Amino acid sequence: MSEVDKLARLEALLFVAGDPLSYEDMARFLGVEVAEAEGLIEQLKRRYQRDPMSGLIVRQIDGAASLATKPSCADTLEAFYGKVRDLKLTDAAYETLAVIAYNAPATRAEIEAVRGVNSDSVVSRLIERGLVREVGTLETPGRPALLDVTEQFLMDFGLSSTRELPPVDLMMYDTITEFTQERQSAAHLAPAPRPLVVAIDGPSGSGKSTIARLLSEHLGILSLDTGAMYRALGVKAMRLGISPSDQERVRAMLSETSMDIDLTDRVQKTIVDGSDYTPYIRTPEASRAASDISALPITREYCVRIQREIGKKQALILDGRDIGTYVFPDAPVKFFVTASEEVRAKRRLADLERAGDSSTLEDVMREMQIRDRQDSERQLAPTKRADDAILIDTSDMSVREVVDVMIDVIRQREQIQPLWSQGRHG
Ligand code: C5P
Repeated sequence: MSEVDKLARLEALLFVAGDPLSYEDMARFLGVEVAEAEGLIEQLKRRYQRDPMSGLIVRQIDGAASLATKPSCADTLEAFYGKVRDLKLTDAAYETLAVIAYNAPATRAEIEAVRGVNSDSVVSRLIERGLVREVGTLETPGRPALLDVTEQFLMDFGLSSTRELPPVDLMMYDTITEFTQERQSAAHLAPAPRPLVVAIDGPSGSGKSTIARLLSEHLGILSLDTGAMYRALGVKAMRLGISPSDQERVRAMLSETSMDIDLTDRVQKTIVDGSDYTPYIRTPEASRAASDISALPITREYCVRIQREIGKKQALILDGRDIGTYVFPDAPVKFFVTASEEVRAKRRLADLERAGDSSTLEDVMREMQIRDRQDSERQLAPTKRADDAILIDTSDMSVREVVDVMIDVIRQREQIQPLWSQGRHG
């Protein structure tokens, strides 16, 4: 079997498997060594990464791999799954559905006999929602209607037939709700409470990172400086002699780049290919490279995927340019911080002086103007205030004052949605 043939077969295997397949199983089915299966997976992964026309990626998890969809396709998939996500039923409705699904076709009298209460109105609502339908009548006095679940029910619950329902036990209601939860979480549709995301966007020197750090300490949740990620990639490109605007070379670089964000003790380490880049990313050259490389769609896709992964797992404050508009457009709390150009330049100069750089205020101002223009005029995810972001001009405010305002806003919103506080760290 040629290598090309093996790759095609591996792709077919992953496609039908759906769930992650272990390298051992891949090796067994393809008739190759485990190490070769691992190598083939790497090749397939790179092929998908390189192919902008494909909506798939290879996801590797603990000695196994599966096909998954590209994060950039999430909006479309959410539109597709939206109907299922909206599936919110009362306990009585679940119970009634369970009775019908297990006893179909069932009459209203049978449902009532099992549930012990009149279920006519619940059944009517289930019919209205398209989850239950009448499939005929029973040839007995009164000709009662026979009810069955619909295809819509099967689709919403991820079944291909009622035969796939778990074995019935007398606690039908418990069984079906548990089963549904399992199905929904397996399909990543569980309506789980989302951890709090605080989006802080704004131009360079507006104080975002300092504010995010203080807010993180105060609220006890992690914060992620997304600019550091673009900076680190810019530095890697410079080290390799790659122009950060060279789309093809950056694409090739990213396919060989691994990035880890270590947020231990709330201090961010941006680790690229196993090395901590933090000490090298604050120079003016790194700022320029970050601005150039971040304008490339491939770089944004790379970083945004990591940012969303981190924000999905725990409460998180993110600072950047596009957090409220693009990375987490549904973030419940969004701020856009800004300050006059002069104030921002002075702040940046102070940072650089602390790092031993000898730039002048004019140098910094010029650099900043170029970078801000580039960041706000680029096509993809430009620096932009989200419509629902609270604007804070920090020109005449101390960091403490800004943080206090933010804490007030977060506390107020938290009262409306207390579950946001989940996922606190220390
Ligand atoms: O915030 P910071 O100045 O560290 O960001 C460096 C550069 O990274 C910015 O000039 C911008 O081009 C890019 N960036 C971005 N999107 C973010 C954060 C930073 O494009 N969310």
